[in-house]
Amino acid sequence: MSDILFIEGGRVIDPASGTDGVRTVVIRDGRIAEVAERVERPRDARAVDARGRWVTPGFVDLHVHLREPGQEYKETVETGARAAVAGGFTSVCAMPNTRPVNDNASVTELVLARAAAAGLARVYPVGAISKGSEGQELAEYGELAAAGCVALSDDGRPVASSALMRRALEYARAFDLPLTVHEEDLGLVGKGVMHEGAASTRLGLKGIPAAAEEVMVLRDLALVELTGGRLHVAHVSTRGAVRAVREAKRRGLAVTAEVTPHHLALRDEDVAASGYSTDFKMNPPLRSAEDVAACREGLADGTLDAIATDHAPHSAVEKDLEFDAAANGIVGLETAFAVCLALARAGAFGERRLVEALTSGPARIFGLPGGTLARGADADVAVLDPAAEWTVDPARFRSKSRNSPWKGRRMAGRCVMTVVGGRVVHEEVGGER
Ligand SMILES: [Zn+2]
Ligand SMILES: [Zn+2]
Repeated sequence: MSDILFIEGGRVIDPASGTDGVRTVVIRDGRIAEVAERVERPRDARAVDARGRWVTPGFVDLHVHLREPGQEYKETVETGARAAVAGGFTSVCAMPNTRPVNDNASVTELVLARAAAAGLARVYPVGAISKGSEGQELAEYGELAAAGCVALSDDGRPVASSALMRRALEYARAFDLPLTVHEEDLGLVGKGVMHEGAASTRLGLKGIPAAAEEVMVLRDLALVELTGGRLHVAHVSTRGAVRAVREAKRRGLAVTAEVTPHHLALRDEDVAASGYSTDFKMNPPLRSAEDVAACREGLADGTLDAIATDHAPHSAVEKDLEFDAAANGIVGLETAFAVCLALARAGAFGERRLVEALTSGPARIFGLPGGTLARGADADVAVLDPAAEWTVDPARFRSKSRNSPWKGRRMAGRCVMTVVGGRVVHEEVGGER
């Protein structure tokens, strides 16, 4: 096969360069050579017919859990990367809550080596804020940055100590690493397992108030003001958190935020409608209709910079339990596009804004290459069929895990081809589903 790839006749949506129209994308030697309306194709070039499809920069996910090292029965770097490219994601950021925690160069290097061996999506490790993510002592940020970490997080847990969080923000500045924070006040969470509201009362499940997230977001914004550090708020889920981020941005603070497809699409009442399915249990929990509306608005107006999946694979061992006892989290890489496209089609936000929140928006936050089809950029590309209908069958996921709330759901929109560095790493053959 030649090194030249022509993706012809698709609707090219590249928010970073302001392109939205029918174009041909020319890839040569692993890079974007040209995006043009008319371009002569040489004989030895491979042509891909993209008519009726979207051609976008490969998606960038700031928040995935790949479970390796330590919990390879749930996911490995390879299976996670395979799920990523099947969903159109060419870059994923791997959270550090593995076993052991990624709080030192040897874990970072292992993740990078596994990703290189898999040769699928680009995998960017996120290092821990504190050693073991135990919230006691800061990790060595210089070592983590030198090994290849692009951000720091104790995701899965909040940084409970305000003093430690202050020092983390100060220390991370020296390495220009953003802190991506899982915001919950554990005292307010208590034994809560779903959003605190009418639904939790009716179902008789212990609730987690929206304020558990909001007080921590507000605390960290105050600490950003104190330190001049950089804060990225993971999985924003409440109206108050959206409002706090919006106001902080207006004041010029260095804060960014992400939202998950499930917090944009589902609400607390869906826990009841699902019959207490543990595939509707995650942290933060599915919130009220007002919170969902605020998240959609926040995405539309740019308060929320990125869509991130929080892809959290768990096996049946952790999920086939009573609601109270089951682990938090769902897989998301292979359904994100279809879930969000349905929301865009229903008018929650624009289609270009959707692509931006999956590409240049997240790339900018962590300073990652990619997220654009600009000439000379790495040729990371997704070809998407917005009309392709399919039924979600977790048994067919590339991910090792099956914990999806979309099981059995009819969807429209699929990734049909994914290119990383000019190489086709995922290609859907006709009739696969
Ligand atoms: Zn989290
Ligand atoms: Zn997470």
